[in-house]
Amino acid sequence: MFEKIVVATDGSDHANEALRVACDLAGKYDSSLHIVHTPQAVGDTLIVGYTAVPVPPTKEEMEKAGREVIGAAEAFLREAGLSDFTSELVSGDPAHAIVEEAKARKADLIVMGRRGLGSLSGLLVGSTTTKVSQLAPCAVLTVK
Ligand code: ATP
Ligand code: MG
Ligand code: MG
Repeated sequence: MFEKIVVATDGSDHANEALRVACDLAGKYDSSLHIVHTPQAVGDTLIVGYTAVPVPPTKEEMEKAGREVIGAAEAFLREAGLSDFTSELVSGDPAHAIVEEAKARKADLIVMGRRGLGSLSGLLVGSTTTKVSQLAPCAVLTVK
């Protein structure tokens, strides 16, 4: 099982944990891995990893930031010895993007963090993960 795993990253520590788990599973199940990231302008700043880009971000800035998040995820997988992976930078609503990528790629598992960059203390599960678990066409693994 788990022939095709989608892993969603917003560049957060939580998402990095999800990436570690997805990478481990992909190694054990010989799965191909598909990384999905949607650049997001949060409030007045575009938050990428630990960097906040001043507003308003242009489409180009959003894409550049997004490519950095994808690049970091790819570098992590390569360092872990994985080569069977693809990635997609998708604009729009992250949850929608993750679900649509999982459908299009016929994924049998989605791996994501319990929370992400938006983490408000007290929030147990982030809105992206909540929405994806409701709409996903396959199993969703929420990594703590
Ligand atoms: P919220 O966004 O609801 O304020 P949050 O940021 O803490 O809270 P989520 O957005 O649900 O929580 O993040 C949980 C997980 O969802 C992340 O660890 C990551 O796996 C995935 N995710 C979140 N945002 C994105 C995104 N823009 N692109 C790809 N994956 C994402
Ligand atoms: Mg691609
Ligand atoms: Mg979020």
